[in-house]
Amino acid sequence: MRDFDGHEQIIFASDPETGLRAIIAIHDTSRGPALGGCRMWDYASEDLAVEDALRLSRGMTYKNALADLPFGGGKSVIIGNARTAKTPGLMAAMGRAVDRLAGRYIIAEDVGTSVDDMAVIRGVTRHVAGLRDGSGDPSPATARGVFVGIKAAVQHRLRRNSLDGLRVSVQGLGHVGWELCRQLAAEGARLSVSDIRTEAVERAVVSFGATPVEAERIFDVDADVFAPCALGAVIDDGTLPRLRAAIVAGSANNQLAEARHGAELARRGILYAPDFVINGGGVINISHEAGANGYDRAAAFAHVDRIHDILLDIFKRADAEGVPTNLAADRIAEERFRPSGIS
Ligand code: NAD
Repeated sequence: MRDFDGHEQIIFASDPETGLRAIIAIHDTSRGPALGGCRMWDYASEDLAVEDALRLSRGMTYKNALADLPFGGGKSVIIGNARTAKTPGLMAAMGRAVDRLAGRYIIAEDVGTSVDDMAVIRGVTRHVAGLRDGSGDPSPATARGVFVGIKAAVQHRLRRNSLDGLRVSVQGLGHVGWELCRQLAAEGARLSVSDIRTEAVERAVVSFGATPVEAERIFDVDADVFAPCALGAVIDDGTLPRLRAAIVAGSANNQLAEARHGAELARRGILYAPDFVINGGGVINISHEAGANGYDRAAAFAHVDRIHDILLDIFKRADAEGVPTNLAADRIAEERFRPSGIS
């Protein structure tokens, strides 16, 4: 399969009694046990599920290495509709599959799974993170990471240390976008915001003095920073020429429709904070729960703040080697999990 990238181990798990059909992909454990979420999705075919598991687990290796976590990359997928096919029995069966790996993979929540599901899994294995009485909701940590990431990008691209008066356009006012706006507004940034939920936009106008923007028009806003915090693949051939911002830095996963759009942003002088680095706050937070010392919120958030310096390193490396930032980030990650250069 095209997405196979020397993965260490791929496990197919099934349990006829509960209907579980799942794939656990362990991409790399050279930095530590594979840590990554469990996605439940109604895949049209088993092949598509395997492809997703391969792609997402590889992504976690890069993400965890760049966040400087003592964890490798893995991901699991359960084939099925999360709203209609999920039962406690099925989640327990998934937990048993994880337990059989004896700690080589640590499961957490993702699209289609929740803290409640992780609580069920905790009943059968200790190799689980993201529990209600542990690190909790990852969104505040993610927002904090994006906030310090924006500061790093502003420092590098605009040679400014203060966010006072900085114009930021934020797409999506959900868990991360809203908290990001709160932090930006507190430091004097001027916000333009969009969401398909008009009530969220109206609240942001009242709470942060933000300028409302129609969802489709957010790419055209004359801003210093564009922060995509809603959907993936928002930077494509159609939107890229419309961008007026000097910086793209937000929480959304897979912001570039294709890797070549990273090169195109660089060519236009737009500094791109690679999504899998700037949105690493959530996994950093969860990793502190999975670590040996137990969860300490202050230590976790201090670690999240390191995203600032990690991004500065990436920006400098990209400048020095004349490559787009997403490529510079990949190179730094690869040096951390394949120090021998063997691929
Ligand atoms: P969320 O579902 O709480 O919020 C997403 C928001 O985007 C919603 O308010 C939704 O109405 C809005 N939206 C949807 N389509 C839109 C459009 N076309 N234009 C404008 N707004 C639109 O999700 P979240 O947890 O805030 O996550 C936001 C993004 O960050 C997602 O891409 C997610 O994968 C990514 N992410 C989140 C975390 C986390 O800790 N929550 C961690 C890493 C990455």
